[in-house]
Amino acid sequence: MEYKKLGNTGLEVSRLCFGSLTVGPLQAQVGIEEAGEIMAYAFEKGVNFLDAAQLYEVYPHIREGLRRYGKDIIISSKSYSYERQQALDAVDECRKALDRDVIDIFMLHEQESIHTLRGHKPALDALYDLKAKGIIKAVGISTHHIAAVEGAIETGIDVVHPLINVDGWGIMDGSREDMERVLDCAHGIGIGIYTMKTFGGGNLHKRGEECLRYSLSLSFADSIAIGMQSIDEVDANVSFFETGHYTKEQKEALSKKKRHIHIEDWCTGCGECTKYCPQNASSVINGRVTVDGKKCVLCSYCSAFCEMSAIRVL
Ligand code: SF4
Ligand code: SF4
Repeated sequence: MEYKKLGNTGLEVSRLCFGSLTVGPLQAQVGIEEAGEIMAYAFEKGVNFLDAAQLYEVYPHIREGLRRYGKDIIISSKSYSYERQQALDAVDECRKALDRDVIDIFMLHEQESIHTLRGHKPALDALYDLKAKGIIKAVGISTHHIAAVEGAIETGIDVVHPLINVDGWGIMDGSREDMERVLDCAHGIGIGIYTMKTFGGGNLHKRGEECLRYSLSLSFADSIAIGMQSIDEVDANVSFFETGHYTKEQKEALSKKKRHIHIEDWCTGCGECTKYCPQNASSVINGRVTVDGKKCVLCSYCSAFCEMSAIRVL
């Protein structure tokens, strides 16, 4: 496994980052024990970096993975906090849930531009105060927007976790090439970058090797977060990161992976989930939520905001 410095953070991360959303209640719903086993297996294989979020509800799974592994890894988490106390509470929740004094990276989830960054300034200031105290080591943002990366450059954020993939699927405000240019610039001034949505949330699984080759070719991508939900997937991804290809069986398994969004009959059309879709992919039509498949990146965030459990990525 190759390791790279994550910008100027002082952290050295594996090129493959374990994306933990997939094992949690919003996606595969792998049990805590099994998820811990999968994570610990990945850590044994050299993955030393894991991406999480308050929204994903996976802290118990990660704690179990760390317990089984018995050593430390680099953890990045994030929250939607916009006020100071929310950010302090979110970091505190993460520290308690993972039984760690220090969280390596803590980010603001789903930033869109310099304007949203300004709107989240109290939360951002709180994170920088925690960094000054040594409670977190780096402050970051996650985003699907080029304008947010520009905002990160302007405000001097430590880490950016952007959406980018071979087709530019899911980038909200420009082309893949535009995103590449701004990320290259961010990396050039020392911002650590670890990417997400290599497979377009599952929309590009059939072209898995091409997707991974593209992500690995990005010189600004210190690490690449890939969601994994089984030992086989860990083996396949570790193997690709180490050899540059999948075995025939791994390639077939990936191309057969199908993910889609499912809306239950009992959707009331309340519209609550549509407010949180980072892609503006959902709307209420004729009293029921409808999702535009050309915009949806199968992130499952809508599921977290439906009290009726009426929308899920399967
Ligand atoms: S999926 Fe859930 S939150 Fe979304 S409109 Fe239907 S009932 Fe409301
Ligand atoms: S509809 Fe749901 S799964 Fe699709 S992009 Fe929006 S929040 Fe994500």
